[in-house]
Amino acid sequence: MTEPRTVDGSGLVLDDRYATDLPQLHVPWAPAPVAAPSMAHLNVGLAAELGLDAAALASADGVAVLAGNAVPAGATTVAMAYAGHQFGGFSPRLGDGRALLLGAVTAPDGSRHDVHLKGSGRTPFARGGDGRATLPAMLRELLMAEAMHALGVPTTRALAVVATGEHVMREDGPVAGGVLARTASSHLRVGTFQHAALLEQQHDEAGLVERLADHAIALHAPELAARGAGRFLALLEHVAEVQAALVARWMLLGFIHGVMNTDNMTISGESIDYGPCAFMDRVDPDTVFSSIDHGGRYAYGNQPSIAHWNLVRLAESMLPLFDDDTEVGAAAATEVLRSFPGRYRRHWVAWTRAKLGLVTEVDGDGKLGDQLLDWMHAARADFTSVFRALSASLRGDDAPLGALATVEPVQAWLADWHARLAVEGRDPVVVADAMDAVNPLYIPRNHRVEEALAAATDGDLAPFEALLEVVTHPFVWRPDAERYAEPATEAFAANHRTFCGT
Ligand code: AMP
Ligand code: MG
Repeated sequence: MTEPRTVDGSGLVLDDRYATDLPQLHVPWAPAPVAAPSMAHLNVGLAAELGLDAAALASADGVAVLAGNAVPAGATTVAMAYAGHQFGGFSPRLGDGRALLLGAVTAPDGSRHDVHLKGSGRTPFARGGDGRATLPAMLRELLMAEAMHALGVPTTRALAVVATGEHVMREDGPVAGGVLARTASSHLRVGTFQHAALLEQQHDEAGLVERLADHAIALHAPELAARGAGRFLALLEHVAEVQAALVARWMLLGFIHGVMNTDNMTISGESIDYGPCAFMDRVDPDTVFSSIDHGGRYAYGNQPSIAHWNLVRLAESMLPLFDDDTEVGAAAATEVLRSFPGRYRRHWVAWTRAKLGLVTEVDGDGKLGDQLLDWMHAARADFTSVFRALSASLRGDDAPLGALATVEPVQAWLADWHARLAVEGRDPVVVADAMDAVNPLYIPRNHRVEEALAAATDGDLAPFEALLEVVTHPFVWRPDAERYAEPATEAFAANHRTFCGT
């Protein structure tokens, strides 16, 4: 195997805090160089936010680093170790099978961001995998992550996708290879804690979970460091809070993550691993797109309870930290875990209010939201369009609501909503504008994503770039963009399948 060379010209200055803080939780490893790397997409806006030199990233040295053909001088690249419950079954050793942490950059605002390559070759965690990723799958992750960011959802970001100039073998034959450079406030997962807890128990790594927890606190909740022995329970509570907030955002965008294994749930509260994810069009809580989710474990409507289940796994891994007396610790953790549904509901109701143009808090608002979802489900309404149709109706345009407005339960609901708006007495046009600022016109609709990726696979990136441009400005109406706002046909939606590990 060729070793990557060391270069100075990428402009990436990386610290290795994870590698030095937690030597037990990674394997130092180098990326495997590829034949003919070329930039497929560079996220110039993100580069600027991170204080990175886009020209340096686009240079030969930059492309070499983003492809894994070179490593920035001074970087320590590692494959991170983690465990995970996959579809409920526990795997003690997953880890970065085809990914590497290059280190972290510090942005001009002082924030730290991991830079991580996905598709950069086999690692000791690869098991049977080839260590590679396809170009369309990596472009898909870039598109999804950047759309979610534009929608205001906490997420990992995508800095670049490089085409490798090689083919990778997949089920249907050879596909162009790609490497994604992803950034994140960290790559700590629930599964990282599960793995640390196992190492501590089985291999006498005393204090490992505590060091991991302190590392997480320093990165994600530094204010908790001063809490002494109570900081670990406070960390659990913090993760419960950020995950409750995150999943509420997903639910109110019709987003289905698709593979909420514990190794795909972050400590930071950022969405991670856009494998089989997709946006739901026709509302149905049982919606599943992932080809491997046969039991519907990660269906749209199950996401809040799965997040809760994953948090229980986190609490189990941290249990010895909560109190010297395990029973006392378990009781305290149980109380935090029990708070999850209430936290989730608070975030969900708050966002529902915003989506419905409400600014005050009234007790029945949650019920108004529940009833909305009920009739959207009964009518198989398109999740995204309904909210825009509601704001249009406030402006006097009932056309987008169309036949829905004549259905009895919808009429009754509209009357309740209007009565609720009347309590606030705001100008309907002002309300409509506020709604349009939080309800997207454009999301990455499955049929448009497929279309763009098919063209990209054939070497034409123009449809991908056009779609990316639209979904990264999701609230701004454009002439000529109608096709991006239209739901797929019922037949397309019924047969649409997504894949992970591709
Ligand atoms: P994911 O479903 O993408 O979250 O991945 C689950 C696990 O499988 C992780 O440990 C990945 O690193 C690993 N994995 C997925 N695809 C590959 C691949 N092509 N080669 C090696 N490891 C992989
Ligand atoms: Mg994963």
